[in-house]
Amino acid sequence: MFGQIDPPHRLLMGPGPVNVHPRVLRAMAADMLGQFDPEMTGYMNQTMALYRHVFMTENRWTFLVDGTARAGIEAALVSLVEPGARLLVLRAGRFGLLLSEIAGRIGADIRTLDIPWGAVATRGQIEAAIVEHQPQVFAAIHGDTSTTMAQPLDGVGDICRRHGVLSYVDATATLGGMAVATDAWGVDVVTGGLQKCMGGPPGSAPITISDRAAAHIMARRHVEAGIRTADSRDGARPRIGSNYFDLAMVMDYWSEQRLNHHTEATSMLYAAREAARIMVEEGLEARFARHRAAGAAMGAGLRAMGLALYGQDAHRMTNVTGVHIPEGIDGEAVRTRMRAEFEIEIGTAFGPLAGKIWRIGAMGYNAMKHKVLITLAALEATLRAEGFSLPQGNAVDAARASYEAAS
Ligand SMILES: *Cc1c(COP(=O)(O)O)cnc(C)c1O
Repeated sequence: MFGQIDPPHRLLMGPGPVNVHPRVLRAMAADMLGQFDPEMTGYMNQTMALYRHVFMTENRWTFLVDGTARAGIEAALVSLVEPGARLLVLRAGRFGLLLSEIAGRIGADIRTLDIPWGAVATRGQIEAAIVEHQPQVFAAIHGDTSTTMAQPLDGVGDICRRHGVLSYVDATATLGGMAVATDAWGVDVVTGGLQKCMGGPPGSAPITISDRAAAHIMARRHVEAGIRTADSRDGARPRIGSNYFDLAMVMDYWSEQRLNHHTEATSMLYAAREAARIMVEEGLEARFARHRAAGAAMGAGLRAMGLALYGQDAHRMTNVTGVHIPEGIDGEAVRTRMRAEFEIEIGTAFGPLAGKIWRIGAMGYNAMKHKVLITLAALEATLRAEGFSLPQGNAVDAARASYEAAS
């Protein structure tokens, strides 16, 4: 017999998942409801209203895709991008590559705007690429956790609209930590996840869809005799190539009609609802400031240890910091010792950055002063134990000073 699940209490200071807010865990322990029970459909409607705040939007179509953040990405792309249609992907890290990988499976005509890792694209570069490629859809990542850079998106949705292009943004890593200003950006579809700055578990992908994108998706809806009527689809557009991720069907399910599709992942809906409730209660500006303060203090502490941050200061995500592994230090040995001796997890890196940087997060429930200070103190002690010579106590003092300056 295996033992009951009883995981160690690790402090998860990587790029996600992070420790879940206790209120979210408690919400998940609530009992099941039938999926058409008025209590349940009431919770679904409340969840839609809450996520309009989280996504800073008036979009009617704001709901959850069941699955991890990647489910939201896949649902958005398979529902928006028709086989053979042209998609322009802004790629500045691993998650940008993921967008083009998924689009390849859809059979899209993929064009890319490739930016070196650690940098971001300018509005001018984005507009020039749109003019050059004339895509049906433009897709980008807001915070690409692989590089820890946040792509500025002010005005980008408006550029797309001017050129008749639909836009999609993956904001998984920033949702709940930095402003994901759907309506102000003018972007059409944005998806997220819970396990980063929302302070929830992985397994639910909040999504918001503009009316014009919803119309585009509905025109591709699947017609099933006797269930959906043929006149609800113009018939000219290729059907969405997935059942589970057919956002037209999922929208029908979340609509007043409640057309049966999947069974809503009840416990995850409870989690998503509570995570959003906590965010709205805290206030968006206060929450973004909390992440900013934690990120600034983490950066100050790392620099005080004599470490160099990765990427561009002006475009840093506030909630996860990339830091160069110093010369002569084994990055994995440090991560192992942090876990074994301090029960703290920090992140490794992928692709060209593997073995070169660590990624240290302060997201959601973990974007707190004491967790930042504890992580810095532990890293300092660990680096010393691994043979890196550095002055004692500097990192924590620098982080404390950063917090004082922020308040
Ligand atoms: C973490 C992250 C994801 C994660 O997707 P999952 O399916 O939840 O693992 C997607 N996009 C970005 C930008 C991320 O940072």
